[in-house]
Amino acid sequence: MAIRNIRVNGDEILRKISKRVDVIDSRIITLLDDMEETMRNAEGVGLAAPQVGVLRRVVMVDVGEGLIELINPVIVYESGEQFRKEGCLSVPGKFGIVKRPEEIIVRALNRNGETFEIKGNELLSTAICHEIDHLNGILFIDKASDIEIKGNE
Ligand code: ZN
Repeated sequence: MAIRNIRVNGDEILRKISKRVDVIDSRIITLLDDMEETMRNAEGVGLAAPQVGVLRRVVMVDVGEGLIELINPVIVYESGEQFRKEGCLSVPGKFGIVKRPEEIIVRALNRNGETFEIKGNELLSTAICHEIDHLNGILFIDKASDIEIKGNE
């Protein structure tokens, strides 16, 4: 496993649309392993492949309930709304309140190529929606209100 460079806001790759994964080959497995190491090293709760410069529909989250890897994730159900403060490893030092569904169901492939569905509430819903946005070139600052700047920018 290796830690990859996290792209930061201003890098054009963060604004591009990621492509579906057709074949889960060794490159995708290595990508997943490297993303996990990169996310943990940066103490993030989620990471999307474009954040490490790879335009593939691969994301992961860990909100404290264990790692969830999602390949080609699609939100198939959503309900309610919530407003939660978000940050992003690609937008260091900024935080803002974003409206997200309170509950979602996501369908995706796991690393074995098996389709599964997962239900996410509250923080897990926010985290998954935030990561899926990255696959469509969207950053939380596009949707956030009350953006706070912390640290030395
Ligand atoms: Zn992010």
